[in-house]
Amino acid sequence: MFDCPIGNADLTDTKQLLSETRAYLCIECGKCSGNCPVAARAVTATPRALVSRLVTGGLEAAAADYLFKACLACGQCMERCPSNVDFVGFIAGLRRLAPQKAVSSCPHAGVFQTAMRLMARLERPTGRVDWLRGLEKRAREDGKGPELRFELVEGAHGKHVPVQKTGSHPGEQRILYFVGCLPYFDAALAGSSGVDMAGIAVATIRVLNAMGVVPLVLADERCCGHDLLWAGDIEAFDTLACRNLEQLERAGANTVVTACAECARTLRLDYPVRVKVHASSTDRGERQDDGQSIGRRLAALAGSKSAAEFVHVTEFLTRAVDGLNAPGKQRASGPAGSSARRTRVAFHDPCRLGRHLGVYDAPRTVLSSLASIGVVEMARERDKAVCCGVSSWLYCDGVSKQMQTDRLREAASAGASVLATACPKCKAHLACALAELKSVAGGGTDSRTRGELPEIRDIIELAADELATR
Ligand code: SF4
Ligand code: SF4
Repeated sequence: MFDCPIGNADLTDTKQLLSETRAYLCIECGKCSGNCPVAARAVTATPRALVSRLVTGGLEAAAADYLFKACLACGQCMERCPSNVDFVGFIAGLRRLAPQKAVSSCPHAGVFQTAMRLMARLERPTGRVDWLRGLEKRAREDGKGPELRFELVEGAHGKHVPVQKTGSHPGEQRILYFVGCLPYFDAALAGSSGVDMAGIAVATIRVLNAMGVVPLVLADERCCGHDLLWAGDIEAFDTLACRNLEQLERAGANTVVTACAECARTLRLDYPVRVKVHASSTDRGERQDDGQSIGRRLAALAGSKSAAEFVHVTEFLTRAVDGLNAPGKQRASGPAGSSARRTRVAFHDPCRLGRHLGVYDAPRTVLSSLASIGVVEMARERDKAVCCGVSSWLYCDGVSKQMQTDRLREAASAGASVLATACPKCKAHLACALAELKSVAGGGTDSRTRGELPEIRDIIELAADELATR
């Protein structure tokens, strides 16, 4: 795990960036380039060369580098750096210093990043209730299980007519499901790759319900801000963090569960850092504002109940599986018939869940607890896993597509008929490549692709499917 300090300071210049990320210690050994999946396919773009370009040519030159827009912040380069250069922090900081240059050229990004900025700026509710009503309708129609149960927590505006349901929280826990932006993705991606994002939200609520949890859901939840942070827009990020943390505080949630690897990283690592940064500058008397600024509101959250525990849903489920596997309890895993009848599933470690948060075992524990599934491992797994090819909707090109195609073939080589993810965006990007491959192969009728490439599913959907068969 690496705790990338991208939001640690109020970054002002390249000298500070080189110092804080230890990039000035680079000895130009090139080990990072050997591990970088982008450099492997676009050989002139290397992490080492980008650092060197900043030092010799300044910010303009560095921002013109291919890697400035194409770096995935996947962290593979950092696994081998002998000087412990925080390259992920470096690229994030570089984009913070030149955010206008990080404007996306990814086909969908204009839509998503505009939606994220609107969620930061708009004072009025974002229509969260409508998402949930859509999900409820979906759940009624798919026939896989009982009605979804959740408890809606109103935003500050109080103008909603919420669907209130009775909550159930074991012990003193108040468990909140942070949905993330995946319902937005569904609307934008519909028809382009056949990908189903809202199904992840339906499945998450369904599995939590099956565990006896009726989660709280924020009626006016906003985007977590991940993509804006990694695109360098720290002001919009702080605004989103503030709006979400204030609502979490109001909801009194002490455990926040998300099915998105990016939300998990952002809530767990980046929100506390930004609260701390603003609290420190307030303590030092550096703030000259009217007391209602986003910075002051974030500072006021220091030490509050918003210090909830933030967990990925696979971590949350693993605790239940571990409980069931404790001595004297019914086993949660184990064969339900012949292993030959089980679906062979490979797990794709999302960068934000794996290298960023160090969560490798929980998804595998959940998968292996599903009796209908046999887990297989790909050649590159855990900290060696390769990124899904697109980060923060910033950039997508032939290099991205090659990475995704390689990953699909790697899963097929491992004998998997399903490639499971634990991040909605990994699902979207891998499904996009799969759809393209099938279309190139003649609408999926070519056995070279149709028969060999795996279906893309989220772990939580697999868990919900299994519950539906019990
Ligand atoms: S973070 Fe990933 S994509 Fe970016 S330079 Fe490092 S290895 Fe390459
Ligand atoms: S691995 Fe580290 S020290 Fe070596 S070139 Fe890359 S950044 Fe520099």
